Amino acid sequence: MDLAPRFTPTPQPEDDAFALARRLQTPVWVYDVDQSRVVLANESACRMWGAEDEAGLVARDMGKDMSTSVARRAQQHRAALESPGARINEVWTFYPKGEPLRVRMSMTGYPLNNDRTGILCEAVGYFEDVPTNVRSAEALTHTDVMILLFSVMGEPLYMNPAARNAFSNDERPLSAAFINPEDWTRAQFEVDLTGEHRFVARLRTVEGVRWHDISIKFCHDAVTGNPAYLITAFDVSELRNARDRARYLADRDQLTGCYNRAHLMRSIASLPEVTRDRCTLVYLDIDRFKEVNDRYGHEFGDAILKEVASRARAAVRPSDTVARLGGDEFVLLMQDLGATPDTTQEIDRIFNALCKPITYKSNSIDVTVSMGVTVFTPGTGELTEILREADIGLYKAKTDGRNRWAYYNAELGAAAAARLSLEAELKHAMADRQFVLHFQPRIDLKTGRIVSAEALIRWKHPEKGLIAPGKFIPVTEETGMIVGLGRWVLEEGCRQAIAWDKAGLDISISLNVSPGQFEDPSLMDDLAALSALPGFPRGKIELEITEGVLIGRDIEIERRLEEIVDMGFRVAIDDFGTGYSNLSYISRFPLHCLKMDMSFISQLPESGPIVRLILSLASQLNTLVVAEGVETSDQHDWLKNQGCDQAQGYLYQRPVPLDEFLSIIKKSPTVEPP
Ligand code: C2E
Ligand code: MG
Ligand code: MG
Repeated sequence: MDLAPRFTPTPQPEDDAFALARRLQTPVWVYDVDQSRVVLANESACRMWGAEDEAGLVARDMGKDMSTSVARRAQQHRAALESPGARINEVWTFYPKGEPLRVRMSMTGYPLNNDRTGILCEAVGYFEDVPTNVRSAEALTHTDVMILLFSVMGEPLYMNPAARNAFSNDERPLSAAFINPEDWTRAQFEVDLTGEHRFVARLRTVEGVRWHDISIKFCHDAVTGNPAYLITAFDVSELRNARDRARYLADRDQLTGCYNRAHLMRSIASLPEVTRDRCTLVYLDIDRFKEVNDRYGHEFGDAILKEVASRARAAVRPSDTVARLGGDEFVLLMQDLGATPDTTQEIDRIFNALCKPITYKSNSIDVTVSMGVTVFTPGTGELTEILREADIGLYKAKTDGRNRWAYYNAELGAAAAARLSLEAELKHAMADRQFVLHFQPRIDLKTGRIVSAEALIRWKHPEKGLIAPGKFIPVTEETGMIVGLGRWVLEEGCRQAIAWDKAGLDISISLNVSPGQFEDPSLMDDLAALSALPGFPRGKIELEITEGVLIGRDIEIERRLEEIVDMGFRVAIDDFGTGYSNLSYISRFPLHCLKMDMSFISQLPESGPIVRLILSLASQLNTLVVAEGVETSDQHDWLKNQGCDQAQGYLYQRPVPLDEFLSIIKKSPTVEPP
């Protein structure tokens, strides 16, 4: 069944004008562009179209086999023919029975119903031509490439349909189509000089402003012989936009829209020598970004990165570069800021612009940054070198307590170099097993008995002798080496605890676990493996963690600590009381022991109220309290009188090597202060 809607020809008013046309020998018909139908046709036209009669021709859907460019052309003709007296003479190719028929057409407007205009078509003659000409004329008609001929004065002489579509039969001079008039002036200059020119420019078309690949050649008008310009143009907007987008993406960080490292590298490399010496580079990162990200989620983290990026862009001049190197690290490259007295003021201003609270979905947090600043000097080398300097400044700002900025200087450079060589030495020391544990006893204050020992690591340096942990633990923390080193301490400590237990020594052991080690995902597996060792003394190995570790992801930490306790370890908080004033967190965790920081002990009796507070807190929480760093018998007496459980300090014993520790215990397992 034919489902196509049936066409009912719009009844035309009885038309005297066409009655005359019916008597003519030349084919004449009226075409309704809106309906794609012939609505009136004389006999000759029916013959030409190969139709039985007028009704048969009127019933034909002419739009069916019509290309879009021809349809558009018909629309344009109709619009042009609406003006009174307008006439278009043109050669058209029809395919009445599938065979091409080239016809010279003369077209005028013809009134249709509803105030519309149709096209009165008259076939004034058949057009004979050699096949090549026929084909080239057809190609010219159907191609999307615009082909135009202009007089050297800029008046249009010819436009193919693609060009007419784009410029809607515009009779204005060519120069008017250029968005940037200079493009046309320059092109004319080039063509006059060399005879041709090719370029890409924006043109005003019916579809708006579009990019075009244009080529112009000097020639002569074949009709008049006058000098002319032959122009071909094709729309490259899509290509151009895709390329611009690709270029934009290649240069940018997707999240913040800042430039990326690759672009920064290029812009530094392309700095002219003169400007280079007056450049300043700021390397910055957001303080405790990881914590915020973990605590509030990545969406908030992303919002912070975007906000800091936009603050940075607003704080610097448009000619300066703001790049994101990755994570929460940004670089500002400022030209012409050199080592002037104003630089410090300027950096202060930028710093203050960045450090402001950020609110996101009703969460508000104080965002602060740390920045390292390096001023280019005439000898300043590679980007990596410049970044390294600024990074050293940043490191300084971080270690000085964050939320500040620092200039790079030679002294910091030397310290960084020393740190680097320490790092290399440490790597070697780990492979060479140059570490030992010393043991410091912990005393029960009621009985004076040694109840426990803290294992404290030392580096047995082949040339420098024993090195204290304060000198190298921070570097191992920064570099991640702490994971391997800490694992060794845990293994060694557990081995010792198993041996003591086997030998019948009733002495616990304390092992320090640093924050970096606690964060490491492999810690839980390591501890599980140790707790499964034969003879593992449950409840006799204590892990000392610091308060900082407990802040943040509460539930995650709670789960880990519970697992650790289930394995048979005890948990102590080391250096208690120094980290955070908010004590509410401790009640949530399974803790066995608080090791009071030695600063409270050394300040006794002035610090008495705080120490008493910690003692009562511990008794409420039912945990043990250990006083660290007890050096005098006054301190010992005070603590004992206040009911402190245990103590550790030089007063009783300094940390000593294993054999010395064992002989002390064998001699006298109790220690009374002198
Ligand atoms: P900590 O865990 O708080 O250890 C106590 C520190 O205080 C030790 O310093 C100890 O020698 C010292 N000390 C003990 N009694 C007194 C005293 O009466 N007066 C004074 N002024 N100091 C006393 P050490 O051995 O230099 O260790 C320093 C820090 O290094 C430790 O502090 C701990 O945080 C870290 N550390 C030591 N060994 C390890 C380890 O195996 N792993 C990890 N991750 N950190 C360790
Ligand atoms: Mg400790
Ligand atoms: Mg401590």
